[in-house]
Amino acid sequence: MALKITDGCISCGACEAECKNHAISEGENSYIIDPNKCTECIGYYDSPKCAEVCPVEAPKPDPDHTETRDQLLDKWRRLHPGEVPK
Ligand code: SF4
Ligand code: SF4
Repeated sequence: MALKITDGCISCGACEAECKNHAISEGENSYIIDPNKCTECIGYYDSPKCAEVCPVEAPKPDPDHTETRDQLLDKWRRLHPGEVPK
């Protein structure tokens, strides 16, 4: 399931640099995650990096974008053709 940045975001920008899928960008009132690019960090890491670095725990699982691990890996492969998942 993709993650979503919730209301607590203070727009510090720490998460953006951590996302190797380039799924995070600055929105109008907070940073935002593109669910088409978020793999929960599957493909690179075992756990979501944005959630780990966020000082206010704003990135949370998005129940509107539920996906299996295999679906997340397929998404990762589409984003990184030719690379091998870790
Ligand atoms: S969970 Fe990983 S892939 Fe998804 S937005 Fe956060 S850092 Fe990017
Ligand atoms: S690290 Fe947390 S507070 Fe900072 S921009 Fe990302 S979601 Fe917002």
